[in-house]
Amino acid sequence: MKCYHHRETEAVAVCTYCGKAVCSECENESDSHRITCCAPCAEAGKRDDVFRNAVREHFAATGRSYRVLSIVLSLVGALIAVGGIALVPVVFLYLERFDPVAFGLDVVLILLGVICLAGSRSLSSIAKRYQDIVRRM
Ligand SMILES: [Zn+2]
Ligand SMILES: [Zn+2]
Repeated sequence: MKCYHHRETEAVAVCTYCGKAVCSECENESDSHRITCCAPCAEAGKRDDVFRNAVREHFAATGRSYRVLSIVLSLVGALIAVGGIALVPVVFLYLERFDPVAFGLDVVLILLGVICLAGSRSLSSIAKRYQDIVRRM
């Protein structure tokens, strides 16, 4: 493959922006260490990098938010579920007679805790997916 600008010189690389073959004399290393064939391609490549970094930062920040939400939700869920379970003996032993309302509320409490824990798990898997996207960019 010959250089796009010098038809008789062997190319050593291709422009990472436009794909033209470049020789060692033409290859132009930009700030981001992309090999480009000319100044406009270097500029365009730099703009691409700025955009890519902004997108990556956005995905990273979103992933972090999901991770924090997931941790908070798992703590809240665990607290609610443990509280509900701790109240089971109260409902069955310490009340003078069986109270269906107290029992119902306790069941709701435990279910709520379990739902929070399940929600936390799915938030955590979303956070992981965002992390994977960031790693692959
Ligand atoms: Zn180019
Ligand atoms: Zn050349």
